[in-house]
Amino acid sequence: MTCVEAREAMVVADPRELTTTNGDLAAHLNECAECGSRARAIAAQTFALGSLVRARSRRRRSRRLMLAATASVAAVLVLGIVLNNRRAPAVPEVRVSSLPVARRVSITVNSGQSATVVRTADTTVTVVWFTGAGQ
Ligand SMILES: [Zn+2]
Repeated sequence: MTCVEAREAMVVADPRELTTTNGDLAAHLNECAECGSRARAIAAQTFALGSLVRARSRRRRSRRLMLAATASVAAVLVLGIVLNNRRAPAVPEVRVSSLPVARRVSITVNSGQSATVVRTADTTVTVVWFTGAGQ
């Protein structure tokens, strides 16, 4: 193999072929110092370029992941705010009765009937529960 043939072969060769010890190209690269030096330089620069491309790819992937994660967190926060606003307790409507408030409860229980009087926490509300005949 001549130097011209070797250099033409190096242009189209897989970078791994430039460092292998098998074949006509490898034999010429071992015998010819100038072609061997060029082959080592091409192999080293190709490896460096491959490392750079892989590193950029990882950075882009990690930026995309970071962007996706940020968007997800933002979506969760917005959803949480929306749901929290929906869950906000409604302010109870205060109704004031125009009727006078009875301070005492008076009931009449018929024969065969029973009544349970329950006071509530609200001093204006008393529950009277009648059971039995004559409800
Ligand atoms: Zn040569």
